Amino acid sequence: MDMFSGHINKLIEELGTLPGIGQKTAQRLAFHIMNMPKERVEGLSQAMMNAKTHVRYCKECFTLTDQEVCPICANKSRNHKVIMVVENPRDLAAYEKTGKFEGVYHVLHGAISPMLGIGPGDIRLSELIQRLQQDVDEVIIATNSSLEGETTAMYISKLIKPAGIKVTRIASGVPVGGDLEYIDEVTLLRALEGRTEL
Ligand code: ZN
Repeated sequence: MDMFSGHINKLIEELGTLPGIGQKTAQRLAFHIMNMPKERVEGLSQAMMNAKTHVRYCKECFTLTDQEVCPICANKSRNHKVIMVVENPRDLAAYEKTGKFEGVYHVLHGAISPMLGIGPGDIRLSELIQRLQQDVDEVIIATNSSLEGETTAMYISKLIKPAGIKVTRIASGVPVGGDLEYIDEVTLLRALEGRTEL
């Protein structure tokens, strides 16, 4: 790495810490950035700073948003009595793309994983329980079908069923361990429609 200047090395190092970016890609991106016009580099860094500064968690569902309450939660024509629980904003986006879900969401920002030391207190679970104080008809658990997703689903179900709220789980049909965002809309819709009560 000593063949490059310290600044280039630093850029490669920073880019390499991003998910899915290996050493080679980090180098390629760094050199690409060096070849970009200065204004475009400024635009890129400004976009990152703006997003970081202005984007926050929706105070209802905890997805990422520019406002205090996200457009989905603010939409009065959606059914606020049906809450779909997802692991991250990408999963929310995948279901939203189907255009068929009329309820609202709750984003956990992770899943319970004893192996990785992620417990119920590390995800937005108490916030979900808080929301259930309101009038809720159904909680649809749409966590991934990975071990972590299933563990989380079971945990949530045990936690809220005693409150008398209907708890359902999306149908398997979603590939095991598959990230929801990579699954096509038809499969997602089928998983949603075929959900079963826990
Ligand atoms: Zn929201």
